[in-house]
Amino acid sequence: MKTVKRVYTFGDKRAEGKADMKNLLGGKGANLAEMNLIGVPVPPGLTITTEVCTEYNQLGKEKVIEVLLEEVRDGIRNMENIMGAKFCDSQNPLLLSVRSGARASMPGMMDTILNLGLNDESVEGIARKSGNERFAWDSYRRFVQMYGDVVLGMKPVSKEDHDPFEEIIDQMKEEKGVQLDTELTTDDLKELVRRFKSAVKNSTGRDFPADPWEQLWGSVVAVFESWNNERAHLYRRLNNIPDEWGTAVNVQAMVFGNMGATSGTGVCFTRDSATGENILTGEYLMNAQGEDVVAGIRTPQQISIEQSQRWAKLAQVSEEERSSKFPSLEEVMPAAYQELVNILNKLEDHYKDMQDIEFTIQEGKLWMLQTRNGKRTGASMLRIAMDFHREGRLTEQEVLRRMDASKLDELLHPVFDKTALTQAKVITKGLPASPGAATGQIVFFADDADEWSKDNTKTILVRVETSPEDLKGMNAAEGILTARGGMTSHAAVVARGMGKCCVSGAGGIIINYKERTMTAGDKVYREGDWISLNGSSGEVLEGKVATVTPEMSGDFALLMDMAAKHTRMSVRTNADTPHDSRVAREFGAKGIGLCRTEHMFFEGNRIVAMREMILASDEAGRRVALDKLLPMQREDFEGIFEAMNGYPVTVRLLDPPLHEFVPHDDASQKELSDATGISVEVIKQKVHDLHEQNPMLGHRGCRLGNTYPEISEMQARAIIEAALNCKKKGIKAVPEIMIPLAGTLKELKMQEEIVRGTIAKVFAEYNDTVDYLFGTMIEVPRAALTADLIAESAEFFSFGTNDLTQMTFGYSRDDIGKFLGIYLDKNILKQDPFQVLDREGVGQLVKMGVEKGRQTKPNLKIGICGEHGGEPSSVEFCHMVGMDYVSCSPFRVPIARVAAAQAAINHPVPEKKN
Ligand code: ADP
Ligand code: MG
Ligand code: MG
Repeated sequence: MKTVKRVYTFGDKRAEGKADMKNLLGGKGANLAEMNLIGVPVPPGLTITTEVCTEYNQLGKEKVIEVLLEEVRDGIRNMENIMGAKFCDSQNPLLLSVRSGARASMPGMMDTILNLGLNDESVEGIARKSGNERFAWDSYRRFVQMYGDVVLGMKPVSKEDHDPFEEIIDQMKEEKGVQLDTELTTDDLKELVRRFKSAVKNSTGRDFPADPWEQLWGSVVAVFESWNNERAHLYRRLNNIPDEWGTAVNVQAMVFGNMGATSGTGVCFTRDSATGENILTGEYLMNAQGEDVVAGIRTPQQISIEQSQRWAKLAQVSEEERSSKFPSLEEVMPAAYQELVNILNKLEDHYKDMQDIEFTIQEGKLWMLQTRNGKRTGASMLRIAMDFHREGRLTEQEVLRRMDASKLDELLHPVFDKTALTQAKVITKGLPASPGAATGQIVFFADDADEWSKDNTKTILVRVETSPEDLKGMNAAEGILTARGGMTSHAAVVARGMGKCCVSGAGGIIINYKERTMTAGDKVYREGDWISLNGSSGEVLEGKVATVTPEMSGDFALLMDMAAKHTRMSVRTNADTPHDSRVAREFGAKGIGLCRTEHMFFEGNRIVAMREMILASDEAGRRVALDKLLPMQREDFEGIFEAMNGYPVTVRLLDPPLHEFVPHDDASQKELSDATGISVEVIKQKVHDLHEQNPMLGHRGCRLGNTYPEISEMQARAIIEAALNCKKKGIKAVPEIMIPLAGTLKELKMQEEIVRGTIAKVFAEYNDTVDYLFGTMIEVPRAALTADLIAESAEFFSFGTNDLTQMTFGYSRDDIGKFLGIYLDKNILKQDPFQVLDREGVGQLVKMGVEKGRQTKPNLKIGICGEHGGEPSSVEFCHMVGMDYVSCSPFRVPIARVAAAQAAINHPVPEKKN
């Protein structure tokens, strides 16, 4: 038999794996190995590779156990030697945790099983050995509960339901008249285990497994299975993680945070993951285990004094109460705290990035259980990278590469208007879990947030706390508000990862899921009511609060300078108005890559003139109407040229089918009739005539300009007259006239004659000239295929990848919603091709278009103006095929600039010869 290594061990400062083996060992496993190698205390364990997860899908349970058995046995022997305990022994049993861990961290996606190996005998052994009976039974009841939930599938049935085990605990507490789990006695815990086991028997028809090996294999397989559960699928889809990767399984010796007053467990970030500030942030609980800290059952405490005092201020807890009831770890266990700080420094130094870590203290001894590069907001991503750069730990290129370009989006988004904020009524205050400003209507269930978002209803998801089941709704909501949970609760961590505004732990509100109400004081808010969240202060506000655009300075400006220094492509914007042009300039756009003229035909009385033109029965009639439109267009262009002040402006001539401009309902047709004096019947007839079965493939683009040359004439004239007028005012205008939807050289040539002919006339009339370019969009597949011919006429190409994608796939842009979701679910498509450029198919046409175009004109200027121009992976592709620029909407310009610089750093190409 061929020997594949399926298991990698670690422990006692030795490890078979290391940090860069994430693909094989998963993120958690690779970093557990690495921590051993750099001398950080980690309980020993073994990692079953991600490849085995894939193998499991083919082999099934029995076979996979067979191939793993020997290596897992060896690995456990290694743990037994290091820990001085024996797996399956009833006197001195080795207990294990079973933890999943994929390549990319998937918070809360797959559940961990702790204290594995316990049964009715070994629990006595543990009790004797530790001299702590309560601890032994607390561990046992936790194990039965977790195993029942994760492996035996005993989860809440519906969204209004409680966890079956939590229900038993709640009942127990009520019987005993206590509030906290920690107040239950040893006998209570024994009784709990009995009740848990009989619940298991009732629900599964089988006894709870007592054999540790059966427990272990059950857990390992459950981890493999969890890779394919619905919420894991959803998380992967939202984060573009391929299904094929699989998860690793980590089996690790237990250390115990629930051993009493000198034991505890916690999580922390080496910096503030919301703002990036260089301050340790984290939470812990004494006498607790596993996820107690994030589960919101007890109020977690802060790790450092500084953090603790900040927390107390926000939570309106007095210093007295804080130091007695919620002291920091720094106060409770100064030595363990200091050791933690030292280890965190070591880890940050080693990984050169903010770390998100999990630890447990067993009777005063500190153990690290996990480290990873922490998830962060856009703001903290920037701040942390820049701080590391200033600390001399990252180069400019590394800073740029470190950016998740799409996350910069968060920094560009509105914040609350300061005056509106002071006037708004504060409902309550929670923790500032994830910054930003969000306004929306209250919903209480994730499904509703998702449902409501389908018709663009903005929602705020209000929950007692969130769980992985809520992911979809969290993603759909504008913001998230929870009544329970700290800064490291599920809601907080996931929201920061998504860049969503979140206020967590707002203890001042009472949520009633059945009534669908949220009560603050004596005021009741219902589903559908508007509220606003300030994720930076933790305030929850009544109603809609006005927002403003944030300022781009400081680190953001520095980042933009770095991007400018390292990019090859330039970034332009898609803008139709002087206002958008100015916004884009502020973001650093170097010109307009797409100015859509049709938008200019809608405003005010322009639409009337436009409709007059469409309704005209002959050329003469059309010219009369076009003469009215000419000055308005000219004025628009002047404004845009002024805003772009010397940068090129690509203007696309009229593109959409004419029926989009005419009124379709009776009332508006009547109005139009009144305004133009044309009878309603004639209007109705014309509207009817314009109807097309397939307008996207119909009478649009240059097909219009070639049937009604006077339209192209008017537009060419407006553009060039505007440029000449600017010139007179001392403003440099650089017009580039772009023909849409050309598929053959002939139809482009025909437009060229019209445009150049008109311009020659205008030059003669003005007795002056300006430089301009004549070019075309490449958006019909035939244009890409014949780009060498098209380039005989065009002086530039701009890839219109929206239409090119539509026509290459044959997917209607307007109707893809009907099946896209299903296609993504079934993995037929990996991504929405209208968002991320399809390199494999559409990309070939783009590449061919570029190459063929430059065969004819080596210096042909080439860019992209589809939605893809602002999407990082598509920008990278544009760089790789040698485009000169990308163009995108104003708010995506900074993202595209960083993506373009990243592309240049990752794919250096020889400088273009001129
Ligand atoms: P997740 O991926 O959801 O963070 P983990 O595998 O990290 O899940 O486990 C969750 C928690 O379980 C850890 O933070 C830790 O508190 C606890 N845990 C896991 N393994 C051990 C162990 N060997 N000893 C003690 N606690 C453990
Ligand atoms: Mg978990
Ligand atoms: Mg963890």
